[in-house]
Amino acid sequence: MEKRDYYEVLGVTKEATKEEIKKAYRKQALKYHPDKNPGDKKAEENFKEAATAYEILSNDEKRARYDRYGHAGVGGASGNGFGGAGMTMEDIFSSFGDIFGDAFGGFGGFGGSRRGGGRRVNKGSNLRVKVKLNLQEISAGAEKKIKVNKYVTCTSCSGSGAADQNSTATCTTCRGSGHVTRVTNTLLGQMQTTAICPSCNGEGKTITKKCTTCYGEGIIQKEDVIKINIPAGVAKGMQMNVEGKGNAARRGGMNGDLLVVIDEEDHPELIREGNDLIYNLFISIPDSIIGTHVEVPTVDNNVKIRIEPGTQPGKILRLRGKGLPEVNGYGRGDLLVNVNVWIPRNLTREEMKIIEKMKDSDSFTPKPDKDDKGFFERMRGYFQ
Ligand SMILES: [Zn+2]
Ligand SMILES: [Zn+2]
Repeated sequence: MEKRDYYEVLGVTKEATKEEIKKAYRKQALKYHPDKNPGDKKAEENFKEAATAYEILSNDEKRARYDRYGHAGVGGASGNGFGGAGMTMEDIFSSFGDIFGDAFGGFGGFGGSRRGGGRRVNKGSNLRVKVKLNLQEISAGAEKKIKVNKYVTCTSCSGSGAADQNSTATCTTCRGSGHVTRVTNTLLGQMQTTAICPSCNGEGKTITKKCTTCYGEGIIQKEDVIKINIPAGVAKGMQMNVEGKGNAARRGGMNGDLLVVIDEEDHPELIREGNDLIYNLFISIPDSIIGTHVEVPTVDNNVKIRIEPGTQPGKILRLRGKGLPEVNGYGRGDLLVNVNVWIPRNLTREEMKIIEKMKDSDSFTPKPDKDDKGFFERMRGYFQ
């Protein structure tokens, strides 16, 4: 879009004084003010254009540069934001809010006055609880009953806060609308602002006789047991949002939410790594040489696995699908069995003799397997 001449934007001559420029801008700003032209994009453009023009022409140095070099002199041509080329609404209100004076309630009046239209809906606060699960519960999913102390709707008054049906009255301040309109006289004429009614706090009604159970609040504190279903596969730190199970709102309105933060109990034998589980297995030297069958634990039961003859320590056996399920999804992680070979610390004299016999045997000389996957898997971070 071609930039218009700043003097033309404000409708002043090149000889205009500072006071004339200020007055001209004020006129433009009020004409195109967003509160007066809600949703009007063209007005918003004009509003911004006027602010940019004023930002340049109200500053002696910038005005001089503009007079000499035009838009290029104040950075407008490159659109880099320098010289007000890219002012946002917030920039304008924070820089020139004082220009509007009381007309729109000063800075901050913009927006706020447009929101006061409807009746306010109360929302109760959220409740946060921590739930600790063991691996079985994480694996299968769990139904948990949680005891909480929370605000619930008062049953005596059904949350209205009034003693009975005849003890509420339409608010006299706002006549039930929940908001008030103020007319302010300013230098620039009469201006209207809308705000939440201070007498009834936006509810439109006032209570003449309060409920004696809740003292007019409409809510009381009570212990409650909440049943929640936790899906399988959750992990420590995850947060579940149970809508509407938080605190009740004052005098009707929406309940807050219950935020459930997941915590995990450590398993005595299995370590969790994402959806995989890790088990650290120790076998004897003879078993590692001859081979054997051993039982390893999973979340639900023990499973028997075969140890091949000549199994090296550090080998990882992957039991597909014996890990944890994906949360909200298909598939399961694996159980990784890390094989260690137990080296005895104390041997009898006899045993020591047998071992010494093996010392010079060629079979016992290390011949590392270059394809040993176990080592590489470990190096890739399965174990810390
Ligand atoms: Zn009550
Ligand atoms: Zn009111």
